Amino acid sequence: MKKVILVRYGEILLKGLNRPLFENKLISNIKKVIHKLGKVRIKKSQARIYIEPEEDNYDFSEALSILSKVFGIVSVSAVWEIESDFEVIKKSALEMVTELVERKGYSTFKVETKRGNKRFHMDSPEISRELGAHLLTNVPNISVDVNNPSFIVYVEVREYTYIYSEIIPSVCGMPIGTNGKAMLLLSGGIDSPVAGWMIGKRGVEIEAVHFYSYPYTSERAKDKVIELAKILSEYCYRINLHIVPFTQIQLEINEKCPADQMTIIMRRVMMEIAEKIANKTGSLALITGESVGQVASQTIQSLAVTNEVVTLPVFRPLIGMDKNEVIDLARKIGTYETSILPYEDCCTVFVAKHPNTKPQLNRIKLSESKANLPELIDKAIEDTEVLTLNSLM
Ligand code: ATP
Ligand code: MG
Repeated sequence: MKKVILVRYGEILLKGLNRPLFENKLISNIKKVIHKLGKVRIKKSQARIYIEPEEDNYDFSEALSILSKVFGIVSVSAVWEIESDFEVIKKSALEMVTELVERKGYSTFKVETKRGNKRFHMDSPEISRELGAHLLTNVPNISVDVNNPSFIVYVEVREYTYIYSEIIPSVCGMPIGTNGKAMLLLSGGIDSPVAGWMIGKRGVEIEAVHFYSYPYTSERAKDKVIELAKILSEYCYRINLHIVPFTQIQLEINEKCPADQMTIIMRRVMMEIAEKIANKTGSLALITGESVGQVASQTIQSLAVTNEVVTLPVFRPLIGMDKNEVIDLARKIGTYETSILPYEDCCTVFVAKHPNTKPQLNRIKLSESKANLPELIDKAIEDTEVLTLNSLM
């Protein structure tokens, strides 16, 4: 009886001839994330990945927890790999269930069998029935409950047989590194980290840019963004965070442009700078946390005017989501608690009481031309600091 980790993946299976490319990327990402836990052998068989530790005392629960954050994985289980022989199956299942009942105090169960190996002499219902009866007679104080059992004994008969009792859901999606790179505009708020996570989930490497307005925003506001990038890097591995000094640009806009256009002009400059840095770093799209109608700068008119300044595609994965849905996701991925820390964002420093919610492009361009922006933009890019967050180090 040998304990291994079973990794299930989903959408990759829909890939035709390219499928091995995606599978190999997933395997190489898995190797990297669990590298620090010790040596393992990894094999791929029948649309599954099996991870077999080479050392005793392998930390399975830590490995499962790490794998539940790997894009491309649907779910994972710690499983016993045994011979496909019914006597062995009975003996191993009994051992597993006895231990589980003692440790967790479970009282009801059912057996679920899948038979991938059609040459095995019993069919699935027969295996479930006979194994269930065997467990019932040999484990004290348990009964069968097919509708609401406290645990399920899963049996999969393939070349080998796998038995286990727990399926841990992972994050699904596509392996990081299978879909190019995009530049996330990362604020310290709730939305943008979620937006980056959603695009990362589709296999896209994430590069990030943050605009800060020291001394109007504090060092702690910057640290918060670094922390958010760090949390994202647990899913996306390596994130370069470009921190752009934005104060001079904001002061210039504040001085030369009408107050009610301040936010929209600032948003346009952010997009322009983000695109320039994206181009330098090989990022093929921009990502923002915008959602239609959420604030003045996210009316459909404002979004159109903001979008006009760039030519790269802009991904806005939250565009049709309600704030509550975004918050739920932020909680799930672990960014929420950091996002709600009360440090000011550069957008909140110079906002007008009544921002224009229906900006007109020609007027905005006219106002922009009164400010000396091109020079300040070049300077801001020149003074940008780059930090690398790498969860694999
Ligand atoms: P968030 O919760 O992501 O801060 P928000 O609801 O506060 O979003 P805005 O402040 O209008 O919305 O910002 C819209 C988007 O612009 C953000 O989701 C983010 O992608 C980008 N953004 C805003 N401020 C910054 C910043 N200081 N640095 C980088 N990107 C920013
Ligand atoms: Mg914000």
